[in-house]
Amino acid sequence: MDPKEKSAVTRVFRFAPSPNGYLHLGHARSALINQAMAAACGGRFLLRIEDTDVTRCRPEFIAAIEEDLAWLGLDWEKPVRRQSEHFADYRMALDRLDQAGLLFASFESRSELAALSYASGEGARDPDGTPLYPGLGKTLSLAERRRRIAAGAPHALRLDMAKALARLDRPLTYGESGYGDAETRVARPELWGDVVLARKEVPTSYHLSVVVDDALQGVTDVVRGRDLEAATAIHRLLQALLGLPTPRYHHHALILDAQGKKLAKSAGAEPLRALRRRGVTPAEARAMAGLEPV
Ligand code: GLU
Repeated sequence: MDPKEKSAVTRVFRFAPSPNGYLHLGHARSALINQAMAAACGGRFLLRIEDTDVTRCRPEFIAAIEEDLAWLGLDWEKPVRRQSEHFADYRMALDRLDQAGLLFASFESRSELAALSYASGEGARDPDGTPLYPGLGKTLSLAERRRRIAAGAPHALRLDMAKALARLDRPLTYGESGYGDAETRVARPELWGDVVLARKEVPTSYHLSVVVDDALQGVTDVVRGRDLEAATAIHRLLQALLGLPTPRYHHHALILDAQGKKLAKSAGAEPLRALRRRGVTPAEARAMAGLEPV
């Protein structure tokens, strides 16, 4: 073996779908790019099932994901990590943030939140378009918060963004190779306000679980669609607060529909299994997902 190769750290890539529907070409693109990048550097390729949202994820979608990826010709390491089996890991990370005084409980219902009057204009909404939380939970006394929690009041746990930012000793950055010239990007978590890290119905959140798992699985390269790039700012912040390593990031271009919108399950994007049923071959699906023939 070439001695240079020996000393190089094996890179680890992952495709991390949520089993709340069938995969479409957008997912195929992401999975295939991950696998191609892993293959190009002799890296590892993992599949991770992000099924913490027990209200929306279903076991039959997990089986379908594996079947569709295998049809595309992908192969991944086993066993596959399913996030729903690891709530204890997310709890531990949450406890550390709580002990550091960075979390607060917020008790409002969805409709109460919707009824609040929010500031308007720039900086009033997060990058996903949700109005920034006005910080009501922080105005309750500690005694009142404890009383409500002890009484079993449903609540989310939010990150106190101002306190979290005050813990940083330098601006957060990350390496981005997906597009543009500047390799180093500055992360701006403040745009998200007091993000939810544990939801009412689920004792974690996408942001927390993804950061914990990427670290636990030794992921060195996060390759995903550009629609998730804004979330990287939160992920960088959580990595810094929890003392976790920073992967390299590669946010690839999305496949757009005829209206210029990204493909989405919710907007009725054609599932891979429907393509398959109408006779599309894996090689054709690969081309439709914008990848070069192998
Ligand atoms: N589970 C996320 C999704 O399906 C992707 C997570 C990630 O790649 O970081 O959108």
